[in-house]
Amino acid sequence: MTDTIFGAIARGETEVELVFQDERAVAFRDISPQAPVHLLVIPRQSLVSLAEVGENDTELLGHLLQVCARVARQEGLEDGGYRVVTNVGGDGGQSVFHLHLHVLGGRALGWPPG
Ligand code: AMP
Repeated sequence: MTDTIFGAIARGETEVELVFQDERAVAFRDISPQAPVHLLVIPRQSLVSLAEVGENDTELLGHLLQVCARVARQEGLEDGGYRVVTNVGGDGGQSVFHLHLHVLGGRALGWPPG
């Protein structure tokens, strides 16, 4: 896959402040927040999007969701609620082609999205 800024963040090659990290995932603040809290959770492993994952990635995907819940709790979003979103491809609005989950909260979020 083509390398992206998120690939560099996942490898620790940038100055980005991480709100969470372990051997499989990192989480950091979105540079253009769409809610009072807007975090991105990404795998260290290079995957373009949800469209690319296979059976071998089941455990990793579960882990990424657990990290979303963990950072949401860390940011105090648990009581009010929050949203976890992953955009896939053009119609999904994906702009960075390294799998990422958005964790949004801190205000009431509209539905349906855009
Ligand atoms: P998506 O449109 O789903 O691919 O989301 C990509 C997100 O990455 C957008 O919300 C951007 O604001 C965010 N973003 C792009 N570059 C950076 C960066 N260097 N650091 C943090 N967030 C970024």
